[in-house]
Amino acid sequence: MYELSRRASCALRKHGLRKGDVLAIISPNTLDYPIIQLAAMAIGATITAFNPLSTPKEISYLLNDSGARFVILHPFVIKNYEAAENKGVDEKFVFGNVDGYTSISSFYEEDDSTFMVDETIDVKEDVAMMFYSSGTTGLPKGVMLSHRNINSIFGMADVINELHPIFFVGKVCFGLLPFYHIYGSILVLFLRMVTSKKLIIVPRFDPEGFLAAIQKYKIEMLNLVPPLINFLAKSPLVDNFDLSSVSSVFSGGASLSPEVGQLAASRLNLQLIYQGFGMTETTGACHFPPPGKRIDTIGYPLPSMECKIVDSESKKLMGPNEVGELRVRGPNVMLGYWKKPKETSETMDEDGFLRTGDIGYYDDEGLFYLVDRIKELIKYKGYQVAPAELEAILNGHPAVLESAVIGVKNEEAGELPRAIIVKRPNQDVTAEDLITYVNEKVSPQKKLRGGVIFVADVPKLPSGKILRRALREQYGKA
Ligand code: AMP
Repeated sequence: MYELSRRASCALRKHGLRKGDVLAIISPNTLDYPIIQLAAMAIGATITAFNPLSTPKEISYLLNDSGARFVILHPFVIKNYEAAENKGVDEKFVFGNVDGYTSISSFYEEDDSTFMVDETIDVKEDVAMMFYSSGTTGLPKGVMLSHRNINSIFGMADVINELHPIFFVGKVCFGLLPFYHIYGSILVLFLRMVTSKKLIIVPRFDPEGFLAAIQKYKIEMLNLVPPLINFLAKSPLVDNFDLSSVSSVFSGGASLSPEVGQLAASRLNLQLIYQGFGMTETTGACHFPPPGKRIDTIGYPLPSMECKIVDSESKKLMGPNEVGELRVRGPNVMLGYWKKPKETSETMDEDGFLRTGDIGYYDDEGLFYLVDRIKELIKYKGYQVAPAELEAILNGHPAVLESAVIGVKNEEAGELPRAIIVKRPNQDVTAEDLITYVNEKVSPQKKLRGGVIFVADVPKLPSGKILRRALREQYGKA
């Protein structure tokens, strides 16, 4: 990888990639992914990455928003990429071979004698990676992460490892979580690279393939999201495979139910099971678990981080066991949202702490617990779903006067997006019509699996802000 990424870096430079340019990768997980990430970062370019299942409209939004000049695609994505309008991309490449596209396999033939890391890179200010997150409100935004942000995670993980080796257990790990999300790229892919683990990379989840890969490659450590732990705890398929190599499971991305975690731990006879907490805006990690098999807590703040719990209304600083919004500050907190200074300043409080939009508390031992979310975000199987995006689509339907999208609790997926709709007078539209209308425009995780409910009006503040909590209380039951 060291050699191939140097070669790829020289090739990308020859093709004109320069410091400050944005390069987008749209691909399922492949071995080429980290090679390109390293190659472009050495030049001082910014890597962004999108869900390979993105629809043409989503691709168009993300390419325009990020201003990517270069794009690298998986053959599987070409059809949707071609159908996307106004791409504004200067050069396109492909993993593998597709007519009309330059294959990145040519990069690996390049002479690497001229390789150099750009000496003008400012590790604190230059954006190395940009993943998309809707944050506390609105549409997906590019989260700007500096080289220092990314490095801080490895430094902090190193310190934790001295206390108890949560991240560094097991020699063979699983690269199943998508590399276009912070969890997959930083906590799985990069953390395994810097700790010299063997990483088994797979392009997508399929139940039998997942279990067969664990058995075949004798995978010891699994980084998962709660729905996959639910699958391990409950699926009858699990009995058909030898999973005895697995000794530890780490959960992140959404809340893991302690009961489900315990079930998986005893079924797989795990030595360790943990849950951590992180966000794209904190470079993936924020809290790490205590020693032992505690899964009721998200644990302690990472070394070098500061945390506080604040009552969002009164701004009062809360003490132990008092519930409020979690706010965090530290070397892993993003530079801000790409080209969105207003949203960035709204996300930071007056002391420079990031508002997580998560509600929780800490106990007398300093262990943190999350109990709710005040931000709009919905998490389907750990994937982000931004209500604002679905509402914009629904509001474009001729029969819809107003819409609000909320998450409905679901044991298997965590949450399912549900639309609350006010119809225009004298308009006839069914729930099925609206579900079909939305589902054909969005990537799979955003589908309206929670259904549609018609109401007379959507509760709002005088400012026009939707009262989502009231809606969730009234219409959020499964
Ligand atoms: P993302 O930026 O996609 O990683 O999403 C971050 C959000 O996921 C957080 O702000 C939380 O709302 C949620 N989240 C991540 N980890 C946990 C966890 N262990 N427990 C509860 N929620 C979590």
